[in-house]
Amino acid sequence: MKLSIRMPIISILLLGLAAMPAAAQPAPNPGPLAAELSIPFGTVTGKLLLLGDYLVFLDEQQPETSIVIPKGIVDRLTADGAMIAIETKEPVRGRAGGVRVLNFRVSTGGDPAAVTAWFASAANKPAPPAPPAPPVAPPAAPPAAPVAPPVAPAAPAPPPAAPAAAETVTYQARHKHFRGECKGRLIIGADQVSYESLDAIGHSRRWDYKSIKETKLSNPYELDITPFDGAAYKLLLDAPGMAPATYQSLVDRVVAARTKPEPTTGTKP
Ligand SMILES: [Zn+2]
Repeated sequence: MKLSIRMPIISILLLGLAAMPAAAQPAPNPGPLAAELSIPFGTVTGKLLLLGDYLVFLDEQQPETSIVIPKGIVDRLTADGAMIAIETKEPVRGRAGGVRVLNFRVSTGGDPAAVTAWFASAANKPAPPAPPAPPVAPPAAPPAAPVAPPVAPAAPAPPPAAPAAAETVTYQARHKHFRGECKGRLIIGADQVSYESLDAIGHSRRWDYKSIKETKLSNPYELDITPFDGAAYKLLLDAPGMAPATYQSLVDRVVAARTKPEPTTGTKP
């Protein structure tokens, strides 16, 4: 009796697959590929997953150092036998820190062809097929409130030693997820802190200084922002990281926003 319970479930799965018309099938998306990643001190065992436009290496011992490689930053991807070599335009972060060259060895029985096909399809069709239902945009962050005009559009912000009170500072940053991360920019502005995600639009946030409950700079590369409402964000900053003076000015702005008397009448735009 107990064994027979399984059968219907498997049958349903099989039926579901069989019923799926060939044309409607998404790009070949094989299951996880057991693989080893070479690092300076040895190898990391894990699994390679192809998830839409992302190649993910799931680090089995330390999932938090799993690597997410967006299709768009892959410069070269070659397979030689069981070896897969990947070069990226920007460093990706894993157990060995930020690297731009990754060498995987697919375990016996695995076929690297799916990974090379994934990369080849990236080159042929830059426009990705419609992704499954995009995440509902969070109610936060009204699009582009008419704040002060953007200061210095995209100059690669040199780390200022002591930013003036109203200066805007921008960092290349990554938003740490439970697994993996998304990539974007952290902007410390005069009135708010914002994170603009480049590869996960739903993860972009703006926090008015007065909406920030707590911040923490564990080291120059790791900033935690905890708002009163909504999820806490852990942001990993690219080198050279955040100068102590910049962090101090961020803290000062949070404190100032809290102690500033609320305008009660007549000043609402
Ligand atoms: Zn994110």
